[in-house]
Amino acid sequence: MKVLLWDIDGTLLNTDRAGVCAWMEAAEEIHGGPLDASRLTLAGMTDPLIAEITIDDLMERPGEYEIAPRLLARYLELLPDWLPRRGNGFVHRNVLDTLEALAPATDFEHALLTGNLEDGARQKLAHYGILDFFDWGAFADGLPLRRDIARRARSEAESRHGENVELYVIGDTPRDIDCGKAVGARTIAVATGGATFDELVEHDPWWALDHLPAAAEFAARLREG
Ligand SMILES: [Mg+2]
Repeated sequence: MKVLLWDIDGTLLNTDRAGVCAWMEAAEEIHGGPLDASRLTLAGMTDPLIAEITIDDLMERPGEYEIAPRLLARYLELLPDWLPRRGNGFVHRNVLDTLEALAPATDFEHALLTGNLEDGARQKLAHYGILDFFDWGAFADGLPLRRDIARRARSEAESRHGENVELYVIGDTPRDIDCGKAVGARTIAVATGGATFDELVEHDPWWALDHLPAAAEFAARLREG
């Protein structure tokens, strides 16, 4: 079995910064004043880590992580308002075709490996109509480090399919490549989000792409091994 572990933001879809908008509204509400969003770089980061960085650097309240649960909870409350308000979001090229083409295949399984909290991940995927393609996922709830989310994904994949399961991590940043390698996955890097093609190549993924190829080419490359 080949388990495809998909990243969400920058890989499957682009929310037109709905996540950032919800995040900043939550942070400013709890902070009690405006904050500088331009100081926040989110690509490849996990939501729990973004909370810590927001508290340390944006709110300038270093180490006051007892605020984090409120911040994350408020973000999840605001996200469903922001997703439809940001009208230029989209599902990336060839993603829908690839999800559809491989869903019935008996040698592939779609799953998620994401820095999003599970609730936020579900909201984003449901808003863009692709939630039902995924059998399961490894999310960032309680796991600030992406490598730990990848470990959770490997453990779930092995419990479903045994130790010989083949993992493919598909993501848009060097952090996706790093976490995939940490769990012995083949890494597929797409330059559709947080990094350029050249930046991704520097991190030596198994396959680097400008964007996801057509479903048939994608499946053929993975089946040839
Ligand atoms: Mg991403």
